[in-house]
Amino acid sequence: MKLNNNSNIDPLEIDKFNKLAEDWWNPNGDFAPLHQLNPLRFEYIKTNADLKDKVCIDIGCGGGILTESIASKANSVIGIDLASKALSVAKSHQILSSLSNIEYQEVSIEEHARKYQNYYNVLTCMEMLEHVPFPEKTIEACSSVVKKGGQLFFSTINRNPKSFLMAILGAEYILKLLPKGTHEYDCFIKPSELENWARKYNLYLDELIGVQYNPLTKSFSLTGDVSVNYMMKFTKF
Ligand code: SAH
Repeated sequence: MKLNNNSNIDPLEIDKFNKLAEDWWNPNGDFAPLHQLNPLRFEYIKTNADLKDKVCIDIGCGGGILTESIASKANSVIGIDLASKALSVAKSHQILSSLSNIEYQEVSIEEHARKYQNYYNVLTCMEMLEHVPFPEKTIEACSSVVKKGGQLFFSTINRNPKSFLMAILGAEYILKLLPKGTHEYDCFIKPSELENWARKYNLYLDELIGVQYNPLTKSFSLTGDVSVNYMMKFTKF
């Protein structure tokens, strides 16, 4: 449930992720869909942004599944989140993976942006916007920390009857891919809304692409159909 606060943090959402955090790196656990999605989205990021020698930031990094992939190619990555247990899991796993170029911080992007303006080459913010009360504020802060010419990748869930059926009824209740209550329909975001906010904060849309799940092969693929899950890639101008 959304709380009417101004901080752009929904404590109930953070709580939800803290409670599940222990299972973050279990490929068959509550975060299985993120594990199945990760190779596809990382390939997309690598293909569309040269990560070599780049300074990157991963917003809402959780247990660090994507953060670690980025660190394997980039100069360095900061992973930020507000779920302290997820960050503890991320930090332990970073040691297991011997990745010394990741720094995890418990801070909001709005707070981080007070110090780091025009700083990063590449920003990722995946599966997070649908968990914050004011996603436009997140986009504003994300834009401000990226250098001109830098690249930003967002992913979230569209808002329409089909996405309700697929992402909530299908994923949480029928296929049981995600715990019940993971997503709230009202927090889903139409691509046009995301693009309009982004444009206000100097982000130029390079690509909007759909992501679809095949329950038979338990794998994700890219698609022109953006009616449920989608990614957007922007360049800051
Ligand atoms: N981006 C990761 C994790 C997605 S799960 C991935 O795709 O693999 C969503 C994450 O967003 C959770 O870790 C949750 O704690 C985080 N989150 C939710 N609201 C947040 C906020 N206001 N600031 C920072 N992180 C937030």
